[in-house]
Amino acid sequence: MAHTQSSTGMSLRFRGVRGSIPTAKSCNLRYGGNTTCLEVRLTDGRIIIIDAGTGIRQLGVEMESAEALSLTLLLTHFHWDHIQGIPFFTPLYAKHNRIDIYSHRPVAEAREILEGQMSAPLFPVPFENLMAVRNFHSAVEPFEVGPARVTSFPLNHPQGASGYRLDCGGHSIVHVCDHEPGNAVVDDGIRGAVEGADILVCDAQYTPAEYERRAGWGHGTWVDAVRLAKGASVKKLVLTHHDPDHNDEFVDQILALAVKEFPNTVAAAEGMLLSPD
Ligand SMILES: [Zn+2]
Ligand SMILES: [Zn+2]
Repeated sequence: MAHTQSSTGMSLRFRGVRGSIPTAKSCNLRYGGNTTCLEVRLTDGRIIIIDAGTGIRQLGVEMESAEALSLTLLLTHFHWDHIQGIPFFTPLYAKHNRIDIYSHRPVAEAREILEGQMSAPLFPVPFENLMAVRNFHSAVEPFEVGPARVTSFPLNHPQGASGYRLDCGGHSIVHVCDHEPGNAVVDDGIRGAVEGADILVCDAQYTPAEYERRAGWGHGTWVDAVRLAKGASVKKLVLTHHDPDHNDEFVDQILALAVKEFPNTVAAAEGMLLSPD
């Protein structure tokens, strides 16, 4: 899949947009069945990956090359749907590649969790045996990846999760997923981090009626996403973390409602390419 860098500093391609669990059903495939993974390319050719759900597998296949890769992986948290693709991400199996992995957990703990998901008898190849150079880092303090500045901020989610803001060349992309609004302190911090973003990618797993039955599960609604986009004056809103039970038609219906409230809204779909403008 061709993926040229935007002249505006970054481009964003969705590799996985499904929440909770992959859903390989034909009625879901226009938006996509793979779990969360976003590919951000910077003008200097660097690649930042946000989350490693099952969508990261195909990204790895397309990246396979004799040339050494230097990748940055930002993990929002360690629930299955955000790390399950790691064992199948082929760039991890080549010793000339280097992958810098960031999360809000202490580095030793983050490494232990990823080792755990590939430990016997869960997976045949231990994480320790992967050939690529893997460096773990804390995402708590802001840091640079080439020309981009990365800032993380806390979300309201069981066991914690991080949002990420990427600023590059005067443009910005913010990722707020998985998040359940309702904690005033956390919500204020998010609003500040999202302020003026060109693109806000936001958790919109539920309808308001569904949320009534799923309060405390760590996700929000399209209404919450629209409220955040309006309140923080973002330019474009992208709804994501589609519920496994929402087929393409249902996501279309949610999108139509959101567009009425915030016209520059799209629903994330596998393969969709966006550039800040
Ligand atoms: Zn999730
Ligand atoms: Zn989660």
